Amino acid sequence: MEYTLKNSTIALNEEYDVIVCGGGPAGVAAAISAAREGAKTLLLEGSSCLGGMSTNGLVNMFTNMGDGIRNVYGGLADKLVSRMKSYMPHVKDDEWRLIPIDFERLKQIYDQEVVASGAHILFQSTVCGVEMKDDRNIDVILVSNKKGLTAYRAKVFVDCSGDADLYAWAGKEYDFGNGEGDFMPGSMCFTLTNVDEYFQPYLEQAYGGKHRDMIKKILADGKYNIPDDHYVLRKIGPRTYTLNAGHVFDLDSTDPESLSKALIEGRRLARELHDAFKEYAPCMSCSFLVQTSPMMGVRESRRIIGDYRFTGQDYLERRSFPDEVYRGKYQIDVHSRKGSKGIDENDRKLKEAGAQGDSVARYGRYGEGESYGVPYRCLCPRDLDNVLVAGRTISSDRVSNGTLRVMSSCLCAGEAAGMAAKHACDLGEVNIHNVDTQKLRRRLMEEGAYLPKYDTDTF
Ligand SMILES: Cc1cc2nc3c(=O)[nH]c(=O)nc-3n(C[C@H](O)[C@H](O)[C@H](O)COP(=O)(O)OP(=O)(O)OC[C@H]3O[C@@H](n4cnc5c(N)ncnc54)[C@H](O)[C@@H]3O)c2cc1C
Repeated sequence: MEYTLKNSTIALNEEYDVIVCGGGPAGVAAAISAAREGAKTLLLEGSSCLGGMSTNGLVNMFTNMGDGIRNVYGGLADKLVSRMKSYMPHVKDDEWRLIPIDFERLKQIYDQEVVASGAHILFQSTVCGVEMKDDRNIDVILVSNKKGLTAYRAKVFVDCSGDADLYAWAGKEYDFGNGEGDFMPGSMCFTLTNVDEYFQPYLEQAYGGKHRDMIKKILADGKYNIPDDHYVLRKIGPRTYTLNAGHVFDLDSTDPESLSKALIEGRRLARELHDAFKEYAPCMSCSFLVQTSPMMGVRESRRIIGDYRFTGQDYLERRSFPDEVYRGKYQIDVHSRKGSKGIDENDRKLKEAGAQGDSVARYGRYGEGESYGVPYRCLCPRDLDNVLVAGRTISSDRVSNGTLRVMSSCLCAGEAAGMAAKHACDLGEVNIHNVDTQKLRRRLMEEGAYLPKYDTDTF
């Protein structure tokens, strides 16, 4: 069915050089970077705080930032994460390998840094449509907030929605999951307070040194309705733990029906897991489930078709690129559907070649000093000229998205995209494909990015 709007004229707001849609790790960095570069910048965020999964999603840690020699995720990623760490005296020196997140502190740091950059923030403002100028350019975006439906115009839009919303609404082709309706499951993270200080040592003692074995026993006993043994636990504050546990299957974050079902199932599962923990770890009996994440934990969504598609093979070869704008090193972490046979052709070949285990085991972890480069072209939609994309939706195959999606990587992608957006504005005719990538790389390095020399033979 269709309905025709009777009054189709809406207010057009102030114009900007750069509008960033979505204020997760990618969007925060994009807004700071564009504004720092001198762009008149607006950051639109649908929820009430910045940070996306790193705050609202209760994802409990940033992955290790270093390659064993140096910090790989430099620039704003390093600055923002280091600032948060400086307020966390409760974390012991040997507990920083995976960096626990103080969500409330991080929200404030994001607020302060974006405001200080000069970018303007509008919360509770959801981008809900686009109007095209021509087939390759967005003219205005439609925004829904307490003003009703209004329009915003910018020279360049940076899509950091985590779902490539702008890109998809511009009518462009995208990848999604394995292409056959199989997406990575989501998880609803949750926080427990009043957890006994000896919780971890107790579990290690009770379950033979492996605290994961508790969840295995819970599943084996079959008393609780818990689908699998996915379970990552981090102490994020005094007597306070956040868990990324349990999987919610068949989640399509671009379908409101599917998302709504997942939120209900996620909250059920969090309660069920907590009840089980209280029974199987008596030292947890006084703990309190204080919060489930306000935002569904979405691991996988649309992936754009860009000027270059990063692949699992690029990860395996530790490739470098002349136009690389940041580097990554985290392992490939793809959560498969229960019983799924593999994640794509490359993965199948690796399996046939004898590689065992899950995606992390098949693709391996990097050794000391190893990292890969991410080309600017992965942020550039092939079929759009005034849109850049940053975050988990950049142009990549499903395998490599398992490393590119980590939050430090999304921060770096955002910084590069925000800066490039301003450089594109400065061109006679705005076109993100014509940005001088060597100038961009130099500026990123001045801001602290780690971009070692590339080997031209690999290009
Ligand atoms: C359960 C789970 C555990 C994870 N664990 C880790 C981990 O331990 N470490 C790690 O580094 N990574 C982890 N990840 C991956 C990581 O959290 C995400 O890939 C990353 O946050 C993506 O960043 P982003 O900026 O692209 O999107 P998001 O973090 O999703 O942010 C998108 C933002 O855009 C806003 N938004 C969306 N649509 C609109 C719109 N139309 N208009 C306005 N605003 C909009 C949202 O409200 C949100 O604030 C995990 C992911 C999940 C789901």
